[in-house]
Amino acid sequence: MSEHSFATRAIHAGQAPDPTTGAIIPPIYQSSTHVQDGIGEFRDGYEYNRSANPTRSSLETQLAALEGGTRALSFASGLAAEDALLRGILAPGDHVVLGNDVYGGTYRLFAKVLAKWGIVSSIVELSDADAVRAAIRPETKVVWVETPSNPLLKVVDIALIAEIAHAAGAIAVVDNTFASPALQQPLSLGADVVVHSTTKYLGGHSDVLGGAVIFGDDRFVDDVKFQQFAVGAVSAPLDAWLTTRGIKTLAVRMRQHTENARAVAEWAAERPEFAQVYYPGLASHAGHDIAARQMSGFGGMLSLGLAAGADAAKAFAESTELFALAESLGGVESLIGYPPDMTHASVRGTELAVPENIVRLSVGIEDAGDLIADLEQGLARIAR
Ligand SMILES: *Cc1c(COP(=O)(O)O)cnc(C)c1O
Repeated sequence: MSEHSFATRAIHAGQAPDPTTGAIIPPIYQSSTHVQDGIGEFRDGYEYNRSANPTRSSLETQLAALEGGTRALSFASGLAAEDALLRGILAPGDHVVLGNDVYGGTYRLFAKVLAKWGIVSSIVELSDADAVRAAIRPETKVVWVETPSNPLLKVVDIALIAEIAHAAGAIAVVDNTFASPALQQPLSLGADVVVHSTTKYLGGHSDVLGGAVIFGDDRFVDDVKFQQFAVGAVSAPLDAWLTTRGIKTLAVRMRQHTENARAVAEWAAERPEFAQVYYPGLASHAGHDIAARQMSGFGGMLSLGLAAGADAAKAFAESTELFALAESLGGVESLIGYPPDMTHASVRGTELAVPENIVRLSVGIEDAGDLIADLEQGLARIAR
């Protein structure tokens, strides 16, 4: 499959028709166990659902092909994937360098869960290469990158960070949830491992929770696979199947998400009600040049800073009709959120706290004119 281009791989990798019936769509193997032909004689390696399931295997093949990795593992959620990766490759005393704008749940995993098991982390501004070098210690094993980041859409130079990590004997892990592999492929830029919340753009329809770890080579596969098997946070067959189905339209969806987000960002940049527009596709964005180099499109996420402050931002988030007020992102329908009280409530008062005047938009694939009209009526409503 790797000789085909992205859109073709997204549809065909891991998706061979059912060999028994010719069904074009591989079935959902809703089965917890598999018959053995003799003791220990497994058919195709399948034994028990926690170790492997054919529907999950299809998704894992598809995920590896999307990111250009050697292997992928699929989990019950993005955070389950992160946890299995980190506990699979780290030991007490190991140190991780973490970007200062990471997903709130990732920060919470490090600060409240892994810290208790002796994993030490420090927070740095990843766009500052000297700060990253200064934060690295002899026991640093991982530099954890999220780009574009959430909710400020900061852009980190993946190739540069990977080089700094490698020079120190560490690896670079990239959370590629915001861009999706349709727009950015970190392994090809030098990263070692990619993680995803497949709940977002990969699933794409706000109907399934999931996560993935994708490996650039086989160094860590066995350790993380062992965690997955021994702890058991696997994706269920139906969930894996839904994610597989969502991925088939990823290439076209991301084109439309990007086109719509650009239209919204350009509209917002002209409106005096917004003091800041955080969108890497705008030439005025601090990370625009790096994003243009390492991404093939700027994506569907943006944040807006209300000039009138926090109360106006909260009122605006409650004033739209098409943009639904909700957590999460990456579905075909547009969402709006107030990060300080919603997605980023867990980092309030920490060094990861986000501005109080922002709303975050996950721009869907509805008609862009309708979306802008909705934001306009929202502004009119809060002005009254
Ligand atoms: C949602 C999200 C996660 C966590 O994934 P879940 O599927 O909710 O567990 C991790 N990273 C980013 C960037 C996310 O947006």
